[in-house]
Amino acid sequence: MSMKERILKLYNLNKIDRELSELISLRGDIPARIDDLSSEKKQLDDRANELRGELDDINSSESNVQSENDELLKKIEKNDELLRSGALKSNKEYDALAKEIDDAETKIKNNEKAAKEDNSARKAAIENELVLIAGQLEDVNVELDQNLKELEELTKQTGEEEKELTSQRDELLKDIDPEDLAHYERISSVKFGEAVAVVRKGSCLGCYSSIPPQKAIEIRTADKFYSCESCGRILIAEEIITA
Ligand SMILES: [Zn+2]
Repeated sequence: MSMKERILKLYNLNKIDRELSELISLRGDIPARIDDLSSEKKQLDDRANELRGELDDINSSESNVQSENDELLKKIEKNDELLRSGALKSNKEYDALAKEIDDAETKIKNNEKAAKEDNSARKAAIENELVLIAGQLEDVNVELDQNLKELEELTKQTGEEEKELTSQRDELLKDIDPEDLAHYERISSVKFGEAVAVVRKGSCLGCYSSIPPQKAIEIRTADKFYSCESCGRILIAEEIITA
């Protein structure tokens, strides 16, 4: 492929990329808004899950306390029976059993106190926050749905055209040398998608700076890649496009 053809391919690629970016710009800030809303939704979901987990932990520790208390009560009853049965042989045994009962009763009281007083405030706070989050999630979901529908509508209108341009682009890329493409993309990324500029009547149409006559002639010969000294774009002579 001649140098002229290589430059022309990049010029055509620039044309397709310009049309594609115009289509994409029709979507405005909707895609960015969708990203924001999605991450907001995820944060709320994560927080709600964290709170539900904490609530589960509290509830299961409360039910553990309940079963511990049940065990303690059984033990008290058993020791009580022993005490009353008169089967105990010494005061020492009697005192030991009495102390066990005493300790168990204290433990039960503490368990109940901990379960009721310490957790109820935290549980109420969690429930409140969960209600708040549910409300926020509802708002986010409504707005997210609206934006998704709007995007879908816009994409429906431009989708066919975009598909066509993308396939033209893919087709064109098959004929472009990877190094040429890298060169193009490097400039495109810093020049808002405009990597190739036409030279008309001694001016770069990318930045409107003038080009010395001798260089303008060289650019028309297209024997190598020429770059604009002001804007850095790849230059192509208008005569090459219209030829
Ligand atoms: Zn320029």
